[in-house]
Amino acid sequence: MGAPRVGFVSLGCPKALTDSELILTQLSAEGYETSKTFAGADLVIVNTCGFIDDAVKESLDTIGEALAENGRVIVTGCLGAKSQEDGRNVVQVMHPSVLAVTGPHATQEVMDAVHLHLPKPHDPFIDLVPAAGIKLTPKHYAYLKISEGCNHRCTFCIIPSMRGDLVSRPIGDVLREAQALFESGVKELLVISQDTSAYGVDMRYQMGFHDGRPVKTRTLELVEALADLAEPHGAWVRLHYVYPYPTVDHLIPLMASGRVLPYLDVPFQHSHPDVLKRMERPASGEKNLERLLKWREMCPQLVVRSTFIAGFPGETEAEFEHLLNFVQEAQIDRAGCFAYSPVQGATANDLPGMLPQAVREERQARFMAVAEAVSAKKLKSRIGSTMQVLIDSAKGLGKQGGVGRTYADAPEIDGVVHLLPPEKVSKTYKTGEFTKVRIVDAQGHDLIGLPV
Ligand code: SF4
Repeated sequence: MGAPRVGFVSLGCPKALTDSELILTQLSAEGYETSKTFAGADLVIVNTCGFIDDAVKESLDTIGEALAENGRVIVTGCLGAKSQEDGRNVVQVMHPSVLAVTGPHATQEVMDAVHLHLPKPHDPFIDLVPAAGIKLTPKHYAYLKISEGCNHRCTFCIIPSMRGDLVSRPIGDVLREAQALFESGVKELLVISQDTSAYGVDMRYQMGFHDGRPVKTRTLELVEALADLAEPHGAWVRLHYVYPYPTVDHLIPLMASGRVLPYLDVPFQHSHPDVLKRMERPASGEKNLERLLKWREMCPQLVVRSTFIAGFPGETEAEFEHLLNFVQEAQIDRAGCFAYSPVQGATANDLPGMLPQAVREERQARFMAVAEAVSAKKLKSRIGSTMQVLIDSAKGLGKQGGVGRTYADAPEIDGVVHLLPPEKVSKTYKTGEFTKVRIVDAQGHDLIGLPV
């Protein structure tokens, strides 16, 4: 099958011409061919001019010709940014069947529209970059970043000042990347951002497209679509950085039914409402314990990982004990804790009641002792059960064993399952494969298992 062919018409001034050059360069770099005729193309791009009436007429006429001869047209350039008095786009009013309209200097948006309407199949012989992109993780798991930046202003954090406000990636791009990752052999997809529950807020949950179907730019729709993409590959989808907003209640049934992993990474940071207020945490007004217990009722196998800060400015002994109780009552499966430490530029530095370092460290140690006891008890309760394990390293498996993880453990941050040599030594395992394991012991943060 030949490369997809794009017809291209460039109208207007030299600035429009350089925009055309950028788009054509990108098309060519990605392996698209150009067609000299509308009829010989799979799709046509018209770069328009909207300066004077004659130019507008010429642009609209050219779009009309391309539609008549080809039918699949993307419009870019100055006329694409022009609206009538009633706010409706001039091009879309005259030619409602165009596939997409962008303004000038919009190479990426034009390419997004081309990818959507004329995707180019990956050719391993000529494409230098694999379809899934270049990844630094092992082949069987990958991180999927869905947004950048954050709209919150937690007083201990300087991320928004470095990365700016929340900018969600278009849902079509995110789903296309996920699909390519699954098709390249990824068995576990880890969804990351600064605030996964806020996905799409900045885009007002705008409708996007994947595979020609409309999908809302919103966490629930994203997670449902990821579950659909993962299913034929038998792959896992794991959610990180989810804040305990009421909307998360809608994700729990997807976990209970096994469509995404019943695992939530929720950075609570504290439990006491007054400390959360001083931290200016998202969802600080929510009844976190109540909410979490409700999630556990809906999905008893749910595993919750969280991070906390001990010794935040002004934290009283009573507030700290509130935190210790929370960890026990909420039965946090995996907890990390930092002793508060001032970060240059963070507004928390100006809060009254900075605690001596020795107190902050002592509270961190007390916290970890309590949290580890909760975690150890939960790990022990797994002994005797049979769990599905994703093998991270099959080195020596069959002789000395190997290492894997269950749904309860994210790579790098949680524990692992040390796999003993299987009873049937003829059985072989590969990194990135799933296998059933009988849990025979728990040690520290890890489990010991016997492949069955
Ligand atoms: S800690 Fe707060 S401000 Fe910083 S990235 Fe997370 S939610 Fe945003």
